[in-house]
Amino acid sequence: MKQKLQHFMAGRYGADQLSRVLMFVSLGLLLLSLFTRWHLFYLVALVLLGYVYFRMFSRNVQKRYQENQKFLNLRYRLAVKKDAQKKQWAQRDTYRFFKCPNCKQKVRVPKGKGKICITCPKCRIEFVRKS
Ligand SMILES: [Zn+2]
Repeated sequence: MKQKLQHFMAGRYGADQLSRVLMFVSLGLLLLSLFTRWHLFYLVALVLLGYVYFRMFSRNVQKRYQENQKFLNLRYRLAVKKDAQKKQWAQRDTYRFFKCPNCKQKVRVPKGKGKICITCPKCRIEFVRKS
């Protein structure tokens, strides 16, 4: 039986991080549909599950790998963004944060210094803000 499964899965993509997350999401939706009796959740969960199996049994390994890389990149960028927001929130008593009107670079200045002229460290443009 195990050998048969191994033979079947040869050359196929298998499970990865994206399919694991999608699996959890579809399980969550299935549970939700149980409690709410909403058929839409059930339907979406089934479609997701179908997509998970399609990805696992797919022979187009390159394409599935790229999809997973895209997903991992997105997850990484979200984690970095969340980290930066946490850091900014922790410094809110001592610093003020502005966006450069020219290049959108985030600029941190000390709080409570009155009206100050800020020079963007990236594009060197100057703008006045109340700190
Ligand atoms: Zn700038």
